[in-house]
Amino acid sequence: MPLKTPEEYVDSLRSLKIRAYIGGERVEDVVDHPAVAPHVNTVAKTYQLAHEAEHEELMTATSHLTGRKIHRFTHIFQNSDDLIKKIQMLRLMGQATGTCFQRCVGLDAANAIYATTFEVDRAHGTDYHRRFRDFLVEVQDQDLMTAGAMTDPKGDRSKRPSQQDDPDQYVRVVERRPDGVVIRGAKLHNTGGINSHQVLVLPGMALNEDERDYAIACAVPADAEGVVFIFGRQSNDERKLENGCQDYGNPRFGVVGGEAMIVFDDVFVPNERIFLNGEHDFCGHLVEYFATWHRANYGGCKGGNADVLIGATAKMTRILGTARNGIVKDKLTEMVHLNETTFASAIGASAMGYLLPSGSFMFDPLLANTVKQNITRNVYQISRLSHDLAGGILATMPDARAFDNPEIGHYVKKYVAATSEYDALERLKMARYIENMTSVTSQVEAMHGAGSPQAQRIVMLRQAELDKKIEMVENVVDGTDDVEGLRLRAEPVPAR
Ligand code: SF4
Ligand code: FE
Repeated sequence: MPLKTPEEYVDSLRSLKIRAYIGGERVEDVVDHPAVAPHVNTVAKTYQLAHEAEHEELMTATSHLTGRKIHRFTHIFQNSDDLIKKIQMLRLMGQATGTCFQRCVGLDAANAIYATTFEVDRAHGTDYHRRFRDFLVEVQDQDLMTAGAMTDPKGDRSKRPSQQDDPDQYVRVVERRPDGVVIRGAKLHNTGGINSHQVLVLPGMALNEDERDYAIACAVPADAEGVVFIFGRQSNDERKLENGCQDYGNPRFGVVGGEAMIVFDDVFVPNERIFLNGEHDFCGHLVEYFATWHRANYGGCKGGNADVLIGATAKMTRILGTARNGIVKDKLTEMVHLNETTFASAIGASAMGYLLPSGSFMFDPLLANTVKQNITRNVYQISRLSHDLAGGILATMPDARAFDNPEIGHYVKKYVAATSEYDALERLKMARYIENMTSVTSQVEAMHGAGSPQAQRIVMLRQAELDKKIEMVENVVDGTDDVEGLRLRAEPVPAR
């Protein structure tokens, strides 16, 4: 049975013996550590919803490799309906958890490797695609959580990987053996890495001929010898360690994804788990595939998260007694408008997608990048409006523990309370949710996750076909009436 229950997912993590550091200290029981447990709960929710009849259509798919029912988070996109369902699934998950549910990175990494290995094999006569399909069947049949690891530390940004003083600033092959390779380096910002079964390692940029050692894509078990997870800090994360942690804002599911640095300290990778090894000419291609599949996601996941944030803000206006005010309603409408704009673009990117040589299905690149570009603005703007409507108490609310102090609890309850229908604790919960889900951690994730804004603009300009637009104005002004019209499907401008 390919679909794990949430309990089976959590138990399977417990059986992994990963090397992890949280708060600077070695931690054996990662799953139950208060810094990680909320993020595990969020991923467990992806497993839970797949078993619920009303969500089955969005959360599951049929494997094109085996014909078996699988989790949609392990599926290779076959057509635009699959992409639409993916976006809808992400919005549903965002609504159910109010935060990042982490499984999309591994999903998009798997799709990028699947599509690229097909093309690499065709060009170079290699055997990577078959290897990856075998690996993917295991992932699908065991319903594994895979992390995608792409971003290298990069060292001196003015230098190429091969020019760095420290050559380990980009993950690279340090030894080639008949049965595999040894890799060294680190990947940063790994969403869900610490609670995954497998890590898919991908190159993070286009590479030159003299950078073949950096052209490596592979799968590494999370508990492989030499893999080290160093968990990142988030805004207010010590609040997770407080009893009940009401001040944390989203105590059940966490704030964003629980990112980790993953160090590969001379990790052996057997041949069967290597999916790119020296074919530098396909690295840019692989990165672009991944980025396009991941960037449109944000119209779904951040859409669901914003639904919850809009709900918290709207509830706050009811608590305050401002909900009927026309200006307040207009600001809530603006939040909805910003949110639906990115969701609509993501659905559009799915509908206008195109078939790749491997048979998998890609978003329209211009629309997918436009989604992410808008997210780098709209999430901030939605947060701004939420702060505006929720008021200054977001920044000055007394500690939740003050509510239980016999000496001052009655003062806090009396003076935090607003309208009589809601007690002070409700106002605290909404304020804390808004405070934490609009924190630096959440906003920076929207800014840099799936690529920083300029990365999208590079693709957008390339896809925008300015020459054609100039032809259009010439036709209009000169009256030739030579109308080419709108494209029906994306015709991606080649990246290489
Ligand atoms: Fe998925 Fe969104 Fe989190 Fe990225 S930010 S892993 S797309 S939920
Ligand atoms: Fe992200």
